[in-house]
Amino acid sequence: GGRDPPVLHVRAHFDYDPEDDLYIPCRELGLSFQKGDVLHVISREDPNWWQAYREGEEDQTLAGLIPSQSFQHQRESMKLAIAGELGNRVKNRETKSATSTLLCARKGRRKRKKANNEHGYPLYATTTHEEPEPEILTYEEVTLYYPRASHKRPIVLIGPPNIGRHELRQRLMGDSDRFAAAVPHTSRPRREGEVPGVDYHFISRQQFEADILARKFVEHGEYEKAYYGTSLEAIRAVVESGKICVLNLHPQSLKILRQSDLKPYTVLVAPPSLEKLRQKKIRAGEPYKEEELKEIIATARDMEARWGHLFDMIIINNDTERAYHQLLAEINSLEREPQWVEKLNNK
Ligand code: 5GP
Repeated sequence: GGRDPPVLHVRAHFDYDPEDDLYIPCRELGLSFQKGDVLHVISREDPNWWQAYREGEEDQTLAGLIPSQSFQHQRESMKLAIAGELGNRVKNRETKSATSTLLCARKGRRKRKKANNEHGYPLYATTTHEEPEPEILTYEEVTLYYPRASHKRPIVLIGPPNIGRHELRQRLMGDSDRFAAAVPHTSRPRREGEVPGVDYHFISRQQFEADILARKFVEHGEYEKAYYGTSLEAIRAVVESGKICVLNLHPQSLKILRQSDLKPYTVLVAPPSLEKLRQKKIRAGEPYKEEELKEIIATARDMEARWGHLFDMIIINNDTERAYHQLLAEINSLEREPQWVEKLNNK
């Protein structure tokens, strides 16, 4: 016999219970797992059923069958197609047949124009974002990353506004020997007392637009007719200084960052239940509207549904002090323990 094929390490993006699987050849041989689990795939000989064991259960006698990537992908695209068809049928029950509506919907989507600024460039991602086609996530290949003093993973805080994400960032940055923000770029003129490269990197509007097109910014926006943004290079400069870069970003900004070699660690700062959120606002003496609280919770749910696979950790911010210590403990462990990170295919 030849050598054993290499083990494939993957993170699962769906829950799996062989007991509920009509297709598995033998239920007793199935391996259950949950979204987020790391699995070690030891055989991919069968196109539909892989053999794997769960991270931490190194005893390979615990290996079992899991659906292969292609099998699971097929199954989920089928589900999506059926759900889409049903949705259309319900929406258009009285007027059109499901098939013709499906075609109309597709045509409409293609025609929809992207909003551009006066120069014809796409603006800040959040303002021009189109609903993406639903993405099917099955497994993602991961590799083990060992902490390095020369590369501390940037910490990205994500979440709805007004639940303490900025306070958390400020708390971390209080330890300025250890944490730092990336110096933003701006196209506005420098003000009295501002130091280039410290307060901002000051560049022309023209240069800013060229840099946007060159995908140099992780995020950017416009404020009072000037551009502002955070560049990959500015984040890299913090990493190279040996500090931990702390960023507050929108989930849409994760794409460029994750495609870089910076290996961000992403934390969703999520609200507690409506009741606890209300109590928290009352305790803090902050005025609030019931509608706002519901909006915050809905935003967090939406973020988790759409981008949940990108989050390394979720912190429920019921009490900012507690959330801060939880976050700090996690950051400390990142400097000690190896972590499974997304394997980049462009390297
Ligand atoms: P100022 O011109 O007073 O320094 O900043 C004005 C505003 O620019 C800030 O309140 C903030 O909203 C925005 N801003 C500053 N830095 C950034 C950045 O890195 N990215 C984005 N999108 N906006 C920024």
